[in-house]
Amino acid sequence: MAAPKSEERVLVVLASAGSKPYTVADVQRTLAQANAFFERSSFGQVHLRTDVTPWLTAFTQSPGCGGATDHSLDGIFGAARTAARRAGYDTTSYDDVVYALGDNHCGFFGTTVGHDVMLMKEPTVQLLVHELGHTFGLGHAHGADCIDLLRCALEDTGDTLSPMGSGSLDFSAYEKSLLGWIPGQPHVTAPKRYVLVPPTAPSRLAQALVVETNRGTWWIEYRSKPFRGVLFRFVDSSFHSAPYDPSAILILKPTKANRPWIVQGESYRIPYSWRVTLTRATSTRAELRFRP
Ligand SMILES: [Zn+2]
Repeated sequence: MAAPKSEERVLVVLASAGSKPYTVADVQRTLAQANAFFERSSFGQVHLRTDVTPWLTAFTQSPGCGGATDHSLDGIFGAARTAARRAGYDTTSYDDVVYALGDNHCGFFGTTVGHDVMLMKEPTVQLLVHELGHTFGLGHAHGADCIDLLRCALEDTGDTLSPMGSGSLDFSAYEKSLLGWIPGQPHVTAPKRYVLVPPTAPSRLAQALVVETNRGTWWIEYRSKPFRGVLFRFVDSSFHSAPYDPSAILILKPTKANRPWIVQGESYRIPYSWRVTLTRATSTRAELRFRP
């Protein structure tokens, strides 16, 4: 797996046992929206260059859901790949190949193996961005009310803002740093005031603040749209999520309010570390105070 290229070539193969449950134009429209998402999120550093095959008859009957083993998934990928090759598409010349299967009613919507994606339902923007995120090496964006996982339940895709969770706002600053879209960010080492700008445009100011603790690394970021608030995500150094990058946990309730951010005037105590107060939140920047 690798970070996306500036021109990432993506082929979508429509494969079924003969049905055409949605149109090529539908998929092209969704791909254009996914491309817009990546262009916006990467500040123009990544563009998807996409092709879509016509519906190809790849299976003699509904291919089912693959089951738990890679072997049966391989069989589905293999049949769809063969159908694409017969139709004149060289799947090896693309960075990522998305196989969208018709005639399917599976309990899951998509799965990714390396740079091959299989979708069991009509592609949506959120689903495409999520599965392509996996091909770029990102794991799931978790959510929890706290990082003491004996006390708080971890939700695997519980990040309500990142497309690697259940959200559709934007990739997190942590994910953008993994993807190479933002440079190294400052580490908080002293109790003082810090200025933070949203990770939504190139900037020489801090687009995130990083706090190292014994248990792992905190990523703090500011958003000014559609809310003005500071988010806290924790990357647990004891987690292993291979083959993907380590996942971050979004703190879903940093205050008693039912939202995953703090607003101006509110504070959050990072466990065993700083107390962070959002002292000023404007449309362009935030000011944070760190105290022991
Ligand atoms: Zn996933």
